[in-house]
Amino acid sequence: MTEGVVSLLLRSTRVITPEGTRAAAIAVADGRIEAVLPYGAEVPPGARSEDLGDDAVLPGLVDTHVHVNDPGRGEWEGFHSATRAAAAGGVTTLLDMPLNSFPPTTTAGHLRTKRRAARPKAHIDTGFWGGAVPDNVRELRPLHDAGVFGFKCFLSPSGVPEFPELDRDQLVRAMTEIAGFGGLLIVHAEDPARLTPQRPGPRYADFLASRPRAAENTAIELLITEAERLGARVHILHLSSSDALPLIAAAKAAGVRVSAETCPHFLTLTAEEVPDGATEFKCCPPIREAANRDALWAGLAAGVIDCVVSDHSPCTAELKTPDFASAWGGISSLQLGLPAVWTEARRRGHTLDEVARWMSSGPARLAGLGRKGAIEPGRDADFAVLAPDERFTVDPVRLHHRNRITAYAGRTLYGVVRSTWLRGERVAADGVPAAPAGRLLERNG
Ligand SMILES: [Zn+2]
Repeated sequence: MTEGVVSLLLRSTRVITPEGTRAAAIAVADGRIEAVLPYGAEVPPGARSEDLGDDAVLPGLVDTHVHVNDPGRGEWEGFHSATRAAAAGGVTTLLDMPLNSFPPTTTAGHLRTKRRAARPKAHIDTGFWGGAVPDNVRELRPLHDAGVFGFKCFLSPSGVPEFPELDRDQLVRAMTEIAGFGGLLIVHAEDPARLTPQRPGPRYADFLASRPRAAENTAIELLITEAERLGARVHILHLSSSDALPLIAAAKAAGVRVSAETCPHFLTLTAEEVPDGATEFKCCPPIREAANRDALWAGLAAGVIDCVVSDHSPCTAELKTPDFASAWGGISSLQLGLPAVWTEARRRGHTLDEVARWMSSGPARLAGLGRKGAIEPGRDADFAVLAPDERFTVDPVRLHHRNRITAYAGRTLYGVVRSTWLRGERVAADGVPAAPAGRLLERNG
């Protein structure tokens, strides 16, 4: 590493580093962390300095599971609104999912279209997942070469016709192809044979019963079996069923290349508290019972679950009808993930160091983002500055999401994001985003 000219020195009594929390001064040069110095370090000549007092400085959050929906369904969200909301919430890097935009990111040409849409609007660093659908095996390698971070597929219907699910043979074909060039397959793991049609109506219990834990468990079993057989690398998206934790733990212990994520809503909300007709709580797989939530926390603490990412998947208000069968499934939380997870983590005796591991370094490692995810020399100077002991009540009006519908409305959460920094520049302060400063990211880029 060459030594740069330090332009910024940020001090705090609570800097979250990979070695633990300590009082420190972070020296920034050319947008990178040059050094993590003692708290009282002198300001280098010509550098700005700022004392953040007792506010905690976390590595900027890396949210590898965001549905931006742009272009094509920009009325659901969009690169402008999504990345502004992310910046306000302490997120400095997001990876966009390949579906719900039109076109979906299933060819290198579609990826170019997506990049064109994102480039002028990105307030934070933004990268892309590709999609694996039944007819695009030949497109996977070109997408990989064009810089996608991996490939998403479904085993059950995705909800949009232009992104069909894979059957078992198609899954094996895609996995074989992706393993051939050392890529990563990320999977929405619900077995369609275990899903049951849902009766129309407002009852959450009916919806929950239609998407049982067994659907996740058998899908995950299949993925582990095939990953082991093919030597492929596979990641389980939005794990909700805690019954699958022993399967994943055993596979990891046996050397199978499997990882898993869960989401703020599975860690903070419970089926018992979802009011009938409240489809802002609808997502697939669903939010389950309180005991399931406790088991997910145990899996997270034990390292069976690798990361916590939002699965921010918004839509317009009209699509959130009070009927759980027909309402669009997806929970909006991009701006709220950090305080939501921290509130519950804190209550359970977890630390901000753990939250940083789950929401920043874990997802960065999953995606191979070597410059992101930690406060240490050589990484990008991306920070989330948090007042961890302050509380606020979620008022949807304060959200920068395009559609201000969220399952967290009215909740009182711990952790106010004071500011967000991207490569040493402040990209949001007190919930107000600054000008777009994001770059488009490519794998290994
Ligand atoms: Zn998703």
